[in-house]
Amino acid sequence: MKTVILGGGLTGLSAAQYLSKKEKGIVILEKGDRLGGLAGGFKKPNWNWELERTYHHIFRNDEAILQLSKEIGHNPFVFSNPITASLFGERNNYRIFPVDSPKDFLFLPELSLFSKIRAGFTVVFLKLSPHFTWYEKVTSAAFLKKTMGGEVWGVLWEQLFKKKFGKYAEHILSSFIWARIHKRTQGLGYPTRGFQSFVDTLAQSNREAGVSIFTSTTINSVQKKDGVYEIKTVNNKGESKIFTADRIISTLPYPISCAVMKDVLGEEYIKEQSSRKYLFAINLIVKTKQPILPSVYWLNIGAKDVPIMCIVQHTNFVDSKEYGGEKLCYIAWYVDENSELLQMDEKQVLQFVLPHLRSISPHLQEIPEVVGFFKAPYAQPIFDTEFVSISRSFMTPAHNIYVANMDMTYPYDRGTNYAVQLGKDVSNFIINNT
Ligand SMILES: Cc1cc2nc3c(=O)[nH]c(=O)nc-3n(C[C@H](O)[C@H](O)[C@H](O)COP(=O)(O)OP(=O)(O)OC[C@H]3O[C@@H](n4cnc5c(N)ncnc54)[C@H](O)[C@@H]3O)c2cc1C
Repeated sequence: MKTVILGGGLTGLSAAQYLSKKEKGIVILEKGDRLGGLAGGFKKPNWNWELERTYHHIFRNDEAILQLSKEIGHNPFVFSNPITASLFGERNNYRIFPVDSPKDFLFLPELSLFSKIRAGFTVVFLKLSPHFTWYEKVTSAAFLKKTMGGEVWGVLWEQLFKKKFGKYAEHILSSFIWARIHKRTQGLGYPTRGFQSFVDTLAQSNREAGVSIFTSTTINSVQKKDGVYEIKTVNNKGESKIFTADRIISTLPYPISCAVMKDVLGEEYIKEQSSRKYLFAINLIVKTKQPILPSVYWLNIGAKDVPIMCIVQHTNFVDSKEYGGEKLCYIAWYVDENSELLQMDEKQVLQFVLPHLRSISPHLQEIPEVVGFFKAPYAQPIFDTEFVSISRSFMTPAHNIYVANMDMTYPYDRGTNYAVQLGKDVSNFIINNT
């Protein structure tokens, strides 16, 4: 049985890792020149470590990725407690307060004691409760307003939801907030040498198990001929190549899976899947001599008049000595297809954010230098009522074609840990059902 896995991100590589324990003849096709997809990285000549194109960390209870890391013998993940905080207030009066621990919350001056007590009870409830089906019947906004109250919604949540989900902010199901709070741990982990190094160790382990990996190989279409799937690809030199498969596992987002496999998946399936909604992720990475945020790693932007979702001072989490002493900072957004930011180049985006960075961090005198600028489509699925009404099965109407992608980690928002678990789950599903 020859299996071709579409996509060489963490789901594809993990699926190959676990399937290759039982089967031979596995091939991975990846369009990027490197593996890793959304968790992939890049490296400047003077850096020792790779840096992710979009900020990444894991939680202490991310067991699937920690277990896989041990299995493949990757250098361990290192855990620490960097400061996470929120920006409150308005221009000329911004205030930054840590929001990570119950103690931070208790001392937060932005809320009344009554609101804090209400919010505290709700957090305990979400931490302890299983994922009730009624979490899918009510939105996060309605749930939080009702349980924590209007003050907490307005001060703590409203802007975070608007900045993460844009026009969909009020439609996100309460399963999302359940998963966020239920799973959250205080310590954050990072793989030694970066996530790209973890990806490369996993790919090496795949290869040692006999998996063939082709990068710079874009899948254009899939057809069935004489009972065998033909996968038409083109490489970065424009050369075409056809791969054959008895079985396909697509880890591509639904819109891409449906586009390339439209001839085999059938109209009904494609029509159903086409109503999913996603946002793009945009990350600008800059370097400065002095950190933009002096001590905070992660800053949620809760201030209404700052058009940024979060600022992540990576080198307050991972030592800047691994990046030639450069202080590296991500400025990040999720946007829909109509966003002006998508039309801008890195210089324009820097000009756009600079006044805001200066008003948040008045000590910032130098002009930051851009070291990376990345836009990723299908980066944030929208978990609304429609989302849960559409099937998310590994099985498709086409014989021996399986789909395992980021939408399937629901109710958990995407994550490297869930990508690893998903790869394992789809390979177990196939092993147990064939
Ligand atoms: C802004 C942002 C921040 C994040 N932060 C974190 C974090 O802090 N911690 C965490 O754990 N997770 C984080 N994640 C999530 C994590 O990166 C993803 O959940 C995970 O990497 C998804 O892996 P995947 O393999 O399912 O998908 P992908 O990584 O999207 O892999 C799909 C692969 O398919 C390839 N592909 C697409 N089209 C084609 C084609 N036509 N032909 C061939 N190949 C194709 C792509 O190049 C890609 O490599 C973040 C994601 C984003 C966007």
